[in-house]
Amino acid sequence: MKLSVLICAVAFILSSGTTQHRNPGETEITRWQYGKKGAVSVTYDDGSINQFKIAVPIMNRLKIPATFFIITGQIPGSQYEGRFIGRPVEAIIKETATIPTNKSNFFERSSAAGYLGLKGTLEYHTRAGAQIDAGKPEEAYKIMDELYKKVRNNEFPSAKRTNNKENKAPHVTWDEIRTYVAQGHEFASHTVTHPYLCALDEVNILYELEKSREDILNKLGQKYTFSAEVPYGSEDNRALEYASRVYPSLRNRMPDIFVDDLIRSDKKNPGSSDKEYVKWQRGAVTSTTLPVMKSWIDTTAVKNNIWLVLVIHGVEGIGWEALPGELLDEYFHYLKSKDNDLWIATFGDVTKYIRERMNATFKSTANGGKIIVKLNHSLDKTLYELPLTLKTYVSSKCKEVQVKQGTETKTILTRQDAGGRYVLYQAFPNAGDIELNGI
Ligand SMILES: [Zn+2]
Repeated sequence: MKLSVLICAVAFILSSGTTQHRNPGETEITRWQYGKKGAVSVTYDDGSINQFKIAVPIMNRLKIPATFFIITGQIPGSQYEGRFIGRPVEAIIKETATIPTNKSNFFERSSAAGYLGLKGTLEYHTRAGAQIDAGKPEEAYKIMDELYKKVRNNEFPSAKRTNNKENKAPHVTWDEIRTYVAQGHEFASHTVTHPYLCALDEVNILYELEKSREDILNKLGQKYTFSAEVPYGSEDNRALEYASRVYPSLRNRMPDIFVDDLIRSDKKNPGSSDKEYVKWQRGAVTSTTLPVMKSWIDTTAVKNNIWLVLVIHGVEGIGWEALPGELLDEYFHYLKSKDNDLWIATFGDVTKYIRERMNATFKSTANGGKIIVKLNHSLDKTLYELPLTLKTYVSSKCKEVQVKQGTETKTILTRQDAGGRYVLYQAFPNAGDIELNGI
């Protein structure tokens, strides 16, 4: 090793001012993990069974991790199911006979709508929620008036189960979920029952968010309480504000100023953004062609600031807008073929990476045959624990470098770019000095 230090030092003196444009020790945190050109997260909503029976085996064969936004109240063995928290529904129904729905009573009525002990009333909540989400509250009030008028006229049959649990479709279990977690997949919250949060009152919004989190925490652990998706891709500020108090990362929208967030309905070209990061959500539905889906990957691989967040719902006949397994197989093979350029990672990991990087401070000092790098970030260390990829320039003839942090030492081959010779390595923030030997 002493010899290699000497060789590198001599090489630096000989080459300075020629091919080595960056000084040994100059360091940056690469925009994406492993110095890749973009990131891709494959996300699934609603937890329908063929996501696990059909899509997971394909992804496991290719070693592609996924993120699943699950509706916890539907999973057998969950502690919390859907319920209405509030006054007895009889009192609410009675009041609707004399007071039309308005701004002050809408949320209570809409929260109770699925829990009146009647069949077919939940869909009124859903329809009203879509109107609120679209910024049309007056339309939502009309839908509530229509619902409660029918309720008072006894137009609905009674239901044994008052919520949406009447669906007896086979469902993934917590035991199965734990095996998928061990395979590297992320699980995340999609609330307890998948309501329109924007059409619930505060106490019922918080129940949907917090009780879903509690079940995930108890069954899977804290790591899986990081990400969430507010149902229906909601853009409602009030709903997202509540959700962001419970979950650090929402797929719906990222508040971070360094992220340009293009939602699924956004037609903006992601290449036109000059922000540090573009989070580009694309939803694959049955009418989306494979060439279009592939073009999203191509675009991400040729730019350097795009994070493609794929949104998939049903798979192989089960779930909303179900995609055939065969199509997913071909698509994921295509994605994997771009592995050299793209960091394929869970939604939570990409969020962590970009936030850690943007909140990091680092300093490197070259001293003799050694470079010392100090790397820290200012975020909550219990949540943001992902290693970052550092790029440090070394002297021009240096073939390999020993990177040491804590008790770990790795030997890493150097690479070359226009700035000169460099080494790419991963390091943990807030975990002590990183020492590069043999530079
Ligand atoms: Zn959903």
